[in-house]
Amino acid sequence: MANLTEIFSAAKTITKGMGITFGEMLQPALTEAYPDGPAQLQERYRGTHVLKRDENGLEKCVACFLCAAACPSDCIYIEAAENSDKLRISGGERYAKVYNIDYNRCIFCGYCVEACPTDAITHGHAFENASYDTSTLIYRKEKMLEAPAAGQAGLAYDSQAGPSAGH
Ligand code: SF4
Ligand code: SF4
Repeated sequence: MANLTEIFSAAKTITKGMGITFGEMLQPALTEAYPDGPAQLQERYRGTHVLKRDENGLEKCVACFLCAAACPSDCIYIEAAENSDKLRISGGERYAKVYNIDYNRCIFCGYCVEACPTDAITHGHAFENASYDTSTLIYRKEKMLEAPAAGQAGLAYDSQAGPSAGH
């Protein structure tokens, strides 16, 4: 009797498994055309970082260094500077004069994004970072900072030359 029960149980399991197989065979094939077509990324994909601006076009980063402290790869380098009445870059007291991420070391863990108190840093969807020259994998703020929206007075930034007129 025990053998009959085992046989029925095995037959039931096989039938269930084959049902899934045949069901999948009737579904349309999902084929990624990348790199000939765009890659299909999930909304929460963690790609190259983006440094965000607020609704006034000011940089959200206030140079608090919490992202650098949270980074397990020690790949974020920040130099802070004070905002002034003449030159305001961020909404806080300080702004990041230099903000570099070394993508030779970044493991895209997202800890920096979680640590940021102002939502200044997030992951974008860019991912084609491969390079034969590792020095090009140190991304500077200029490369990651989002452009001001139309009508915003945000400043373009060059950490060598300083801020320049908005976009
Ligand atoms: S994603 Fe992770 S490893 Fe990369 S910069 Fe952020 S905290 Fe560091
Ligand atoms: S990105 Fe966020 S956590 Fe990092 S220094 Fe700027 S404000 Fe602080």
